[in-house]
Amino acid sequence: MIEMERKMKPESLMMSYGYKPELSEGAIKCPIFQTSTFVFKSAEEGKAFFSLAYGLREQNKGEELGLIYSRINNPDLEILETRLTLWDEAEDCAVFESGMSAITTVLLEFLKPGDLVLISSPLYGGSDHFIRKILPKFNINLLEFKVGQNKDEVIQLVNNSGLADKLALIFIETPANPTNDLIDIRSKKEIAKHFSTNEKPVYLAVDNTYLGPIWQHPIKHGADLVLYSATKYIGGHSDVIAGACLGSKELIKRVKGLRTFLGNMASPNTGWLLLRSLETLKVRMDAIAYNANKVADFLNTHPAVEKVYFLGNITPEHGEQYEIKKRQCLTNGGMISFDVKGGEKEAFQFLNALRLIKLAVSLGSTESLAEHPATMTHADVDEKLKKEFSITEKMVRLSIGVEYHEDIIHDINQALESIKK
Ligand SMILES: *Cc1c(COP(=O)(O)O)cnc(C)c1O
Repeated sequence: MIEMERKMKPESLMMSYGYKPELSEGAIKCPIFQTSTFVFKSAEEGKAFFSLAYGLREQNKGEELGLIYSRINNPDLEILETRLTLWDEAEDCAVFESGMSAITTVLLEFLKPGDLVLISSPLYGGSDHFIRKILPKFNINLLEFKVGQNKDEVIQLVNNSGLADKLALIFIETPANPTNDLIDIRSKKEIAKHFSTNEKPVYLAVDNTYLGPIWQHPIKHGADLVLYSATKYIGGHSDVIAGACLGSKELIKRVKGLRTFLGNMASPNTGWLLLRSLETLKVRMDAIAYNANKVADFLNTHPAVEKVYFLGNITPEHGEQYEIKKRQCLTNGGMISFDVKGGEKEAFQFLNALRLIKLAVSLGSTESLAEHPATMTHADVDEKLKKEFSITEKMVRLSIGVEYHEDIIHDINQALESIKK
């Protein structure tokens, strides 16, 4: 195998890794295994596969789980999972039919009644809703900390809750959406360790959707679990909903165990679409990062723009935020938020005047998108918190695509000019 001779970069392996053409009539690409079940060679083989799948016996050396039934395993999903591990250098991966199903499966697997989950704030709306509105039905408690609170303050917060011995999971999202505020992954791991005991480890899960698998590697900074909405950069073409969870073999075994019984694994077709997307993940994200820097440079000097929220604007004067950026973020990403001068009226004028950039939520796709967080993605956020997070009426969020950067800038410019008229 060529992979053995030299440690290649993931982008070099995305077209071939984990796929054996000889098992598929020599097809260069992995076919869609559109099948619900798999034929066993013998009853003995069926018995052996099941006893391994259900953990009734130890895995033999070098043995892989045989194909049984597409809720348990399917080649499109297995190859996709193998390839996804390369970017994050994770031991294992589980893919899901949506980002939300990956997130909720992790929350349900690692929390039980009476437990405490510590979250960063703000979180993605769907995660926030599940943790605030649905987990309490199972008597799971929630505590939140905010960007800028240091390790000692957060430890104090947990101690003051009276539930420190119940802390089971820390769940964070960095950079925060839509303000690009950064949270230190390393210090959250130290907090998890601080409250861990031999009987009850505290795990750290990081939703890495906003920077994706190319621009930030949470496991390197201590995360136990990394979560993705694969709908965003990984899928990258606004044509599929999917999710992924990565981590150690031990933890992903638990995640896959619950996935088998919730039945929220990705379909073969979704797996195939994502395999195709992964081949261009690096070049798409390189193009997006390049474009985002150009667009931010333009917005930073435009007279109709009051403030730009972009990782590239975090400079040494920002102290701690700059230190975190240097450590965690490999580029400035592809997400830019900005405040127009004025309020909702001006922001809407801008959005309605866009021609190339599409007015839609979601992010990380080939086409550039624009939306209004205060009334769209973050409509659900408490008014007081919105103010605190600077999610005001004048804010617009952009997800930069792969178009020619001057065309994107031209569109933004004409839409900003239209505000005055
Ligand atoms: C979109 C998104 C999700 C949810 O993913 P779906 O694929 O829509 O279920 C979770 N977290 C973040 C940060 C997201 O942007």
